[in-house]
Amino acid sequence: MEAVMIRYGEIFLKSEPVKRRFISIMTGNISLALEAEGLLHRIETPRGRVLIFGNEPRRIAAIAAKTFGVVDVSVCTVTTADINGIAAAAVEHAEQHLRPGMSFAIRARRSGVEEFNSQELAAAVGSAVLDRIPEATVDLTAPDYEVFVEAREFGGLVYDEKTGGPGGLPYGTQGEVMALLSEGIDSPVASWLMMRRGCLMVHVHMQSGRFGGVDAERNVLQNHARLSRWVPGHPLDLLMVDMEPFFEVITALKEPRYRCILCKRFMLRVASILAAERGAYALVNGDNLGQVASQTLANMVVIAPAASVPVLRPLIGFDKEEVVERARAIGTFEAHPGSIGCTVAPRYPSTAAPAATIAQIEEELDVESLATQAAGTVRRHRAKNGEVEEVR
Ligand code: ATP
Ligand code: MG
Repeated sequence: MEAVMIRYGEIFLKSEPVKRRFISIMTGNISLALEAEGLLHRIETPRGRVLIFGNEPRRIAAIAAKTFGVVDVSVCTVTTADINGIAAAAVEHAEQHLRPGMSFAIRARRSGVEEFNSQELAAAVGSAVLDRIPEATVDLTAPDYEVFVEAREFGGLVYDEKTGGPGGLPYGTQGEVMALLSEGIDSPVASWLMMRRGCLMVHVHMQSGRFGGVDAERNVLQNHARLSRWVPGHPLDLLMVDMEPFFEVITALKEPRYRCILCKRFMLRVASILAAERGAYALVNGDNLGQVASQTLANMVVIAPAASVPVLRPLIGFDKEEVVERARAIGTFEAHPGSIGCTVAPRYPSTAAPAATIAQIEEELDVESLATQAAGTVRRHRAKNGEVEEVR
């Protein structure tokens, strides 16, 4: 019989009750993901292990390996908890991958089994493998091939492959946050990082209307849909706000240099209203120190106070190349975004706007009322398993 074994990282360090709660959220998420693919399965959590049984262990493993909180997964042979049963399964694995001349190691663990210790288990399994493949050699330091064997109360587990997962914490173990999602590359990665850290997510996007590129909406919906694939079975909402009236107002100002600061502050203001309405704890954005004029330290200091909830910036210390790499890995990178440029951004944006000047402009424009109005224009799109639909 085969089973998929799930390994988790930091959850292991939690106290017993917290660990139990996190594991049950994680296995619930894995179940939702498997159900979304129509895969029948059964999850068991014998002490210290999460095992999934089902007819298609390889597909189950591939899906489980995309679940937040999972460090790695292995397709295991499940045996009886005695040396002979474990050794026979290990020999079967070795016969498929261990060629004459190659070196190997048996990595053994034991828990709740008293008849032998892990060294004895490793030695016995190792000699069974050597009996079958005498031209192989043992190398415990840098082997060409490893077989992992575990003897546990409930049985033996034997495997020789590990598929890495995303790590992090199970989705939903932390509170809700609201990520400012754009049509670009950075913000989807920022959202993903916070989801991976266990935050329930809701997206908000500010539409620039005639001031933005014609492909902006398509791209943001695509980002939203792609991110929803990371939390199968969970609905993921995107709130779309109409920012065109605000752009009408700031493009009429004589001084264009501060537009980006005003725009970013406005986005934080509107998002804070929407976050408060839902009880979301914090905002998330894709700010990256020094990347563009609105992300200089001096400007970030002027922009940040427009938010009335904390703003999390998971990409703050990334290099652009690292963000792009991550975007590719998580499937949000779009090589052909089409026309997404902002036409409001001035040619020479201020890199250090004076806070007092900004405050004065905002007062004259009555930005607070504009923000309240904008927050009233929300249209909602709900994504699930990569499909998006507008909801009322
Ligand atoms: P991105 O690739 O995420 O758009 P960027 O490098 O283009 O980032 P900016 O356009 O200055 O940087 O935006 C900084 C952050 O502000 C974005 O990462 C995103 O979180 C948020 N943001 C920008 N534009 C929008 C928008 N139209 N709606 C919602 N949030 C936005
Ligand atoms: Mg952008």
